[in-house]
Formats: sequence, C-alpha cells, structure tokens
Amino acid sequence: MKAVVYEGPHDVAVKDVRDPRIEQPTDVIVRITTSAICGSDLHMYEGRTVAEPGIVFGHENMGVIEEVGQGVTSLAEGDRVSMPFNVACGFCRNCLAGDTAFCLTVNPGGAGGAYGYVGMGPYDGGQAEYLRVPFADFNCLPLPQGTEHEDDFAMLADIFPTGYHATELADVSPGETVAVYGAGPVGLMAAYSAMLRGASRVFVVDKVQDRLDLAEQIGAEPIDFTQGSAPEQIVDRTSGGTDKGIDAVGYQATVAEGEEQPAIVLNNLIATVRPTGRLGVVGLYLPEDPGAPSEEAAKGRLLIDIGTYFEKGLSMGSGQANVKAYNRQLRDLIIAERAKPSFVVSKRAPLDEAPEAYERFDRREEGYSKVVLTP
Ligand code: NAD
Ligand code: ZN
Repeated sequence: MKAVVYEGPHDVAVKDVRDPRIEQPTDVIVRITTSAICGSDLHMYEGRTVAEPGIVFGHENMGVIEEVGQGVTSLAEGDRVSMPFNVACGFCRNCLAGDTAFCLTVNPGGAGGAYGYVGMGPYDGGQAEYLRVPFADFNCLPLPQGTEHEDDFAMLADIFPTGYHATELADVSPGETVAVYGAGPVGLMAAYSAMLRGASRVFVVDKVQDRLDLAEQIGAEPIDFTQGSAPEQIVDRTSGGTDKGIDAVGYQATVAEGEEQPAIVLNNLIATVRPTGRLGVVGLYLPEDPGAPSEEAAKGRLLIDIGTYFEKGLSMGSGQANVKAYNRQLRDLIIAERAKPSFVVSKRAPLDEAPEAYERFDRREEGYSKVVLTP
C-alpha cells in the first residue's frame, strides 16, 4: 500500500510499504478515508526530535473497518470509525482512571502510545491506505455511516479533544476570560472549546494573519504579537489579566527561526493571567530536543519564571490529551450541529501530494492552517 514515510529532516515521501495485517486477535484493520497532518508531526518533520527515517506518519485517523480480529466484539467490517491518537489498552490503572494518554501497557515509560510517533510505541501511522488498530474495541469511536461531516469527524482523533482538554486543564468556566497562545489548529480548537464552555472573552495570540482571521471568525479577539508585547496587549484589555490561559504553542517557540531572543510561551502566560488564575498547557515540551538553541534547552530545561508564578499563586495542568475522555461527547455535539470544528480545515489533498502539503503547512502558508489527506 501507499504511505507517507519520514525520510529525514524536511523530507517525507509517498512510498510502497507492507500492508498492515491483524497481529493480535484484538486488532482491526481500517481503510483510511481521512488522515490529518498535525503540528506534532512537524516536530519530527523539522528534525527537532530523535525520530529515525522510516516512520509512517499519521496519528489523526478515521476510516472504515476492513478486517476484524477474532477477539473483537463490538465492531464489524464496514463500520465507520475515528481513532484517538492515543493507543491505549483500556485496562491498566491509568486507562481505568481515564488517563489514556499515559497508558502503562503500551508504553510503561510514561509517554503513552500513539500512531506514527517517535518514542510512543511501534505503531505505524495512518497517512496511508490502511492502519492496524490495536485494542480495537477500546480505540475505535463509532461514527454514523456514510460520508457526512467527514472533515468535522476528522478533528475528533486529536485537535478538537486536545483543544477541549486544554480548557479542562485550565478549568475554563462560564463567563471567564481566556488567553490562548498559538492560533494553529490546536489553539483554534482550544479557543472554540472555551466558547463552547461559555467563556465571555477569548484572546488568541499569533502572528500568522489567516490564522488570526479564523480566530476572529469564531468570535475570539486576535492579538498579533509582532505588534507589541502580547501579555501587555491582553492585560491592557482586561482588568489585570485573564482568568485562564492556554499554551497551544509549546517549546517550538523557543526555536522559532529568525527570533533573536527565543520566546518561552509559558512565561508570556504567567505574565498574562491574573493572580490565582490557572494555565492549561497542551503545546508540546520535549525532554530531549536536539534542535534546541542551548545545551540546557536540549535537555528540555527552560528558564520558567517561577518567581512570578509563585507570587501570583498560579496553578497549571499539562500533558498529552486523553482523547477518549471527550471524543464521544464532541462527536455528539457535531451530530447535533452544535459544533463545527471543520472551520479550521483549509486544504484537502490526496496522499500523493503529502510532500508538498508538509512543506507548505510547515511554512504556515496562507491556506494551510489544517491539511487533511484523503488516501
Ligand atoms: P502549529 O505549529 O500549526 O501551530 C503553532 C502556532 O503557534 C503557529 O501558528 C505559530 O505561528 C504560533 N506561534 C509560534 N510562536 C508563538 C509565540 N511566541 N506566541 C504565540 N504564537 C506562536 O501546531 P498545532 O497543530 O496547532 O499544534 C500546536 C502544539 O500543540 C504543538 O506543540 C503540538 O505538538 C501540540 N499538540 C499537543 C497535543 C496534546 O495532546 N497535548 C496534541 C496535538 C498537538
Ligand atoms: Zn495531532
């Protein structure tokens, strides 16, 4: 079958690879209908991780079940399904507590499991014609048959639940003000989720105009950080800062090209949120970052302004999203026409166009806010 394979920094190719097959009785094989490219793929794509060539990318997958293992009880051939990016067993102590991003069976090291991702298990990605899904009864979310809402449902594997998770970590409540750093797909989904939870005002910080435009389109207030300090712009518009803050950028801001002084988004958030406010961090920070600008940063150690954090009595939640904690509810909001996360999708491309799509999404080009591949 054809698949998107990582060849090295800034280089992916569409290649023929071996078809996946049932390896455990609890597996299913899914014929992929849509697989999205994620900002998380760019960490590997840009050579900022220890990823080795040969990985089949793609953790934002949906499709139709093609083959069912003998031990699978709740799924059948022909079912339309969405797969959380987390690969999880469903029976370890973390999964039982709902923390499926930290499944101890698939990855006792603590980083959890995922499709097509370095350090997160041996699972091939779904930017391909077919995907093997382990522990399938647990890791497939059934969708209505047909092709309706394809782009909306495609957001259920990762960024919609991840954006929602950010608001859960920050404990966004009705009437509150929220600052979201990053207007990438994840930041936009966090802003959208904050509105769903009843936030009164949401600020979204970025410098890419068409992404800021999307933020404005959903009713958020865009803040361009090239027009002056983002924390100052937001504190000026609120009385002493927002109630809650969300980091949807992560450590990549510290290695942003052309920035003389690498920004640490967490410090901006500490400056933006009012005393006793709360932060939700879903932007990725890595324990190992060979591309970092200093030796310390390469070990994942950044200078966080803990003094101000303490003085303001802030609190924080962080980590990969437990997609399964939210994907069923968010699916039902889509079905009820109460949520339409596909507003972020700007480009549909066949698998063959993946190399170009990666290049353009990586440059944050206009019209490439979220790319979905259609094998
Ligand atoms: P993206 O790269 O498309 O978006 C990041 C955005 O941040 C870009 O628009 C960029 O212009 C902006 N940015 C850069 N520096 C900034 C700064 N100093 N201040 C404000 N904005 C800045 O990526 P994405 O797909 O939206 O993902 C965002 C982050 O979320 C990535 O780190 C990704 O790995 C992570 N992620 C985490 C989870 C999770 O489960 N926790 C899931 C998916 C993605
Ligand atoms: Zn993703």
